[in-house]
Amino acid sequence: MEVMQPFAMAESKQSPFQAPACDVCGKDAVVEQAYSGRILCGYHLEKSIRKKVSKELRKQLYLDKSKPTTVFVAISGGKDSAVLLTLLVELIGMRRDVRIVAGCVDEGIDGYRPPSLQCAIDLCETLGVEFISTSYENLGFHQMDEVVKRLPMISETKEGVSTIPCSYCGVFRRQGINALAKQVDADVVALGHNLDDMAQTVLMNMTNGDIDRTLRLAPHTDTPVDGLPPRIVPLRWIPEQEIHLLAMHKQLPLHHEECPYAQGALRWRYRDIVAQLEQDAPGTRHSLVRMSDNIKHVARRVEPPVQSHPTKCQRCGSPTSGATCKACDMRDLLDIDLE
Ligand code: SF4
Ligand SMILES: [Zn+2]
Ligand SMILES: [Zn+2]
Repeated sequence: MEVMQPFAMAESKQSPFQAPACDVCGKDAVVEQAYSGRILCGYHLEKSIRKKVSKELRKQLYLDKSKPTTVFVAISGGKDSAVLLTLLVELIGMRRDVRIVAGCVDEGIDGYRPPSLQCAIDLCETLGVEFISTSYENLGFHQMDEVVKRLPMISETKEGVSTIPCSYCGVFRRQGINALAKQVDADVVALGHNLDDMAQTVLMNMTNGDIDRTLRLAPHTDTPVDGLPPRIVPLRWIPEQEIHLLAMHKQLPLHHEECPYAQGALRWRYRDIVAQLEQDAPGTRHSLVRMSDNIKHVARRVEPPVQSHPTKCQRCGSPTSGATCKACDMRDLLDIDLE
């Protein structure tokens, strides 16, 4: 039997030196799920994750039997997207009517992106998956290292402008993922968001009173967002820590470093809050995600989704609700003369 160390303490109140027994086979457990009461060894954790992801795929991924479906998987070299790609290959990769392509967006962050990009390439090679990539430079944006240099100067000259790198990076990366998906004519885009990510996003949207974002939150299977392939999030019920354990168990090539610009983003605050809530009241993360599903259901009952027809950005042609898209606005903002 495989041995995974260390025992997943964040899910457990027990000492790391007294691994309890798996509740299925009695072997040393690697995780105790406070939210479910289950205690699992590596083998049975993998089995349980596969089962949950397979169930989610059946709900989220619509395969049109009359034609092949191209699934574009956005990967980063990190654990979530590595586990997502691996499970997708295992669960649907053998189907003749499914084509899986993986792709990575290079943000231009020296010391962080090159090694993680290599991990993404290595993973695709091991799995025999087609790999594509693009960069902020290719897309006409500044590299993130350059954005970070420019931000203090911009905030001096313009009021109310975000000085947090992730605000820009998130918008540019979305453009990159859309461009890659378009390149391979994807029917669906799969993202590696885990349970913790989803719960943080739900709480952030609620704190902002942002019902639109709540309604547009992936998965989009039955409510496609116009102009873009629907996004699916098959890992949305799997806690981050269990994904990490599975990635170690499967010995996936992973880049473990954090992005040097990650700190400061508001998401980190939500990350701490959600983790604290989960510790105090196990199951909070699931409840938050279920809450957003329930809001979507209620909204649909009251007002069935109408196909919205976003206009095209005058600059780049991306779907937008205004004359130009947010990415183009941000590009303009950053295009200052550096003397
Ligand atoms: S942490 Fe922020 S700046 Fe770094 S890659 Fe992610 S979104 Fe971009
Ligand atoms: Zn077991
Ligand atoms: Zn645009």
